[in-house]
Amino acid sequence: MERFWSKVRKTDGCWWWTGGRTENGHGRFWREGRLDGAPRVSLELLIQHRIPRRLYILHRCGNPLCVRPEHLYVGRQSDNMRDAAIAGTLGCQKLLPEDVLAIRKMLARGVHPDRVANEFGITTRNVYMILRGRTWGWLTTRESRISPAQPKSQSVAALGILQAPPRQV
Ligand SMILES: [Zn+2]
Repeated sequence: MERFWSKVRKTDGCWWWTGGRTENGHGRFWREGRLDGAPRVSLELLIQHRIPRRLYILHRCGNPLCVRPEHLYVGRQSDNMRDAAIAGTLGCQKLLPEDVLAIRKMLARGVHPDRVANEFGITTRNVYMILRGRTWGWLTTRESRISPAQPKSQSVAALGILQAPPRQV
């Protein structure tokens, strides 16, 4: 979606949405005849899958205009309340989604978590949290793609998108 990314200004920290905004300052984007939240579009482009509308796209960084996938997570509305508090305690996240996928692959191959931690410059505890889906649980590796043929009643669990509580370091 070139049209989407042309409206994003990437920095080392947040990726700023420069396109249209809602009245309360959230990024919005016209897609297929409907208005979507820019962070939602960003995540859906990454995972190549629709995120159910009843789930909300929330910010780890507390910046409503940020569309950087690793600053986002999928949660329920009530999580919004925690959003700002979490943003204050999380600090920067080192890992990119590609890193997390690589980490999962290494673990699946039987590589020791200590070694994985070393290689990516994170703590062994972080590796275990990824392993258990406590962090990055929303990032799915499923091959399922957005397609009209998909039944609408699919459960969240079936989509592989979890509302992992954001307890990232
Ligand atoms: Zn951000």
